[in-house]
Amino acid sequence: MEIQELYRKQQEFFNSNETKSIGFRIAQLKKFKKLIEAHESELYKAIFEDFGKSEFETYASELSLLYHEINIFIKNTKSWSKRKKVSTGLVNFPGKCYIIPEPLGVTLVIGAWNYPYQLSLLPAITSMAAGNTVIIKPSELPSKTSAVMAKIINANFSPNYIHVVEGGVQTTTELLAYRFDKIFFTGSIPVGRVIYEAAAKHLTPVTLELGGKSPTFVLPDCDINMTAKRIVWAKFFNAGQTCVAPDYILVDQSIEQELIDALKTKIKEFYKDSEDIDENYVRIINTKNFDRLQKLIDPEKICFGGKLDREKRLIGPTILQNVSFDDEIMQDEIFGPLLPIIAYTDIDETITKVKERPKPLSCYIYSKNRKTIAKILKEVSFGGGAVNDSVMHLSNSNLPFGGVGLSGIGSYHGKFGFDSFSHYKSILDKPFWFESNIKYSPYSRTKLKLIKWLLK
Ligand code: NAD
Repeated sequence: MEIQELYRKQQEFFNSNETKSIGFRIAQLKKFKKLIEAHESELYKAIFEDFGKSEFETYASELSLLYHEINIFIKNTKSWSKRKKVSTGLVNFPGKCYIIPEPLGVTLVIGAWNYPYQLSLLPAITSMAAGNTVIIKPSELPSKTSAVMAKIINANFSPNYIHVVEGGVQTTTELLAYRFDKIFFTGSIPVGRVIYEAAAKHLTPVTLELGGKSPTFVLPDCDINMTAKRIVWAKFFNAGQTCVAPDYILVDQSIEQELIDALKTKIKEFYKDSEDIDENYVRIINTKNFDRLQKLIDPEKICFGGKLDREKRLIGPTILQNVSFDDEIMQDEIFGPLLPIIAYTDIDETITKVKERPKPLSCYIYSKNRKTIAKILKEVSFGGGAVNDSVMHLSNSNLPFGGVGLSGIGSYHGKFGFDSFSHYKSILDKPFWFESNIKYSPYSRTKLKLIKWLLK
């Protein structure tokens, strides 16, 4: 279907008010869940063929999140969509004030490739729960996952309501010419700028889920083995191609070697050192990214790993030591299985260096010292993060997920997502039987006195 026709049909359908019915929304969410369940094996197959992601990682980091959030929406959509009474105040006596949550209209979701199901479908189901229609544009890089989502959704839902449009830059540019009521974008900072500019032409509200370099502070009083275990899992899951992965480590010099030894031990424990590292170890998405990552590796700084196989698009878990803030690897988000380590002697100086850089999407602090933890949490601005863990904060739907500054605008997950796809309409509702005449002219000193008291 042509984009123009699709857009027009979604507008018409939204204006029919059908998506505003709570019964309709819940039925569609249940249908969506059943479709995912019925096609799980196809979804696993497609993502494995695209970049070698295992069933375990796909379930743990993509499908489980979809099921979890669909269940939350099925349970809460009714109560979240109810009008909410708020106090009215004397000025508007005897009126009532309330807020009516309402859907925004025709929405556009543009996904990134690294968690292709979750990043396209989670915002889409959130938009459905809030009562909108949705056009989904998944990333074209993992072409099989994009095709399988299009196949499942387009065969089972009316395009008037929810539809997948496949394609790359040209298709997205074409879509962006229309006046959507909301654009939800996940991807890189440069493309985020393109989306924001296109949205500004129509004054379309946006949520931008972007990236950045997420620092990981490792302080001398942490539990080193547990710290290494949690960092290795978070960094090398999906071969480091995770927006909230620990990008680099800032470690107190006194424990640098101990930490590196523990990291090496954990890598060896988690990933067999066979020809392919491990059958469950994810591949780099394409050769362009492989080449980009290869260039970031300074051979003199490798203290572990450095295994590269261009044909298989495989980069083994790699640790780089003696890295400085000026090195090339420290200029942009790494988005791959390379872990630079910067040793510091002065924590205050290090915090200042982090603050001088763009606000990251995440930050992690490993320590038992509540005073230093509190200091970092207070001084460093970032989207979200964890103390003594990494990445796992995003698994809790009670926490908003999103960036700040260059790492993004807005947030989602659970109620935060519902809010980002809703408008909260404020209403003052008055009866006819009473009207105070204070606000009407002719004015007087007495009226002025009264109004000063009332409007305090
Ligand atoms: P990307 O910005 O290259 O692409 C994202 C989407 O934008 C794709 O659907 C793509 O087709 C489209 N696109 C690309 N160029 C475009 C253009 N010029 N005009 C219009 N549309 C265009 O990002 P990516 O490589 O898919 O993903 C990696 C980036 O996404 C990383 O920076 C990562 O940190 C970030 N990311 C953020 C989150 C988050 O939740 N904050 C999650 C995953 C990834």
